[in-house]
Amino acid sequence: MSKQMQAAVLEGSHKITIHSLPQPTATSADEVVAQVRHVGLCRTDFQLSARGEDKGLVMGHEVVCQIPGDSGYYALNNEVSCGQCSYCQQGFSSHCENLWELGINAPGGYAQWLLTPRRQLYPLTFSNPVLGTLVEPLSCAIHAEQRLQTIVPMLTTTKELVVFIVGGGISGALLSYLVSQWSSSPKLLLHDIAETEFPWMEALDIERITEPPEQAVHLSIECSGSSGGRQTAFRAVRKGGAVCLYGVPNKQASLPISADELFQRELIVLTSFAGATDTTVKTAIKHIHNNELFFSRLIGRIIPLQGLPKALTEWSPIHGTRTVMDTSI
Ligand SMILES: [Zn+2]
Ligand SMILES: [Zn+2]
Repeated sequence: MSKQMQAAVLEGSHKITIHSLPQPTATSADEVVAQVRHVGLCRTDFQLSARGEDKGLVMGHEVVCQIPGDSGYYALNNEVSCGQCSYCQQGFSSHCENLWELGINAPGGYAQWLLTPRRQLYPLTFSNPVLGTLVEPLSCAIHAEQRLQTIVPMLTTTKELVVFIVGGGISGALLSYLVSQWSSSPKLLLHDIAETEFPWMEALDIERITEPPEQAVHLSIECSGSSGGRQTAFRAVRKGGAVCLYGVPNKQASLPISADELFQRELIVLTSFAGATDTTVKTAIKHIHNNELFFSRLIGRIIPLQGLPKALTEWSPIHGTRTVMDTSI
């Protein structure tokens, strides 16, 4: 009989159960069966579990693991691209036509063991390996930041750039951090409908505002994914400004602005979806390595594997932090 492992399996809408499953086995020399250590609980997992369509899926894509016989820790890049299609060839591997995403459409890290191509693992240099769970979400934020940098010169040439972040969760925190590093030192504003404190805020020069601005900022970055957040983001930008849609909208969502208004106000709409590539993952690791103190503020509750069914269906992380599953507790 094959060796067994514990895993959290999606069984239907808001239904996740801990099961004993056969441990995966590598079928080629390019693959490795890694021992899962820590996994960040992403809102995407909550959305997948609410939908409940992918029955039998083991989710979990923000993974830190170890390779048997090696004392180091590795972050997983869960986006396995083919390298052959036109998107891969032109540097858009996140849009790969044969994309295989561990934890999304292939078995992920909510288990004791994980099968992955060896090249998807990146060695970590952090004093606290839990921070490696932030590599995947930070890679996606870096992808957005790189896209934003290409439009910044269109937004203002004379005045200090004013950037407005909508939503103070992990996405808002990561994008605020990245924008705060720009050499032009933009003015950063944050709005969130929750009144709670965000533990990451005091580490950055960012002003929290209760009343969202009206046609006053150059760039809004929408990180909440909510329709209210999108309305706030569009209302806040000046003529000739830009709105970045970063928070994942629900399937039925449409834009809260007419084509006419978009045109009259000459707005740029930029979207950014996923984006963990070899380059962004390496950049993310550098950022965390350089400022472990800041990124530590984003780690919230630590829960055992057995705690996943409850944590993923109730979804109540400490505001502005990631809940992390630890297989050793
Ligand atoms: Zn995620
Ligand atoms: Zn491809």
